[in-house]
Amino acid sequence: MPSSERTGLSAESVAKRKSEAEAALKRMQANSRISKIVIAVPGDACPACQAVFGTYPKDQVPALPMEYCTHPLGCRASYQPFIDELFP
Ligand SMILES: [Zn+2]
Repeated sequence: MPSSERTGLSAESVAKRKSEAEAALKRMQANSRISKIVIAVPGDACPACQAVFGTYPKDQVPALPMEYCTHPLGCRASYQPFIDELFP
């Protein structure tokens, strides 16, 4: 079943979130100052999103939005940069 049927989001808005997440991830992967990527999730995220919360090597980041998200508002997990050198 497509995620749009589970979450009540339109297929268009799911596709938009997906392309935005992909663009954000690509920008971070291209930035040499960003060593890792954090997946941040809201406190009320569904179990699928809670499970993906964490810090990942740049080349092993799971795709967002989560395919198995069951939250009524859809997946709201997002990529955040993890920067080692806070004081370069
Ligand atoms: Zn979710």
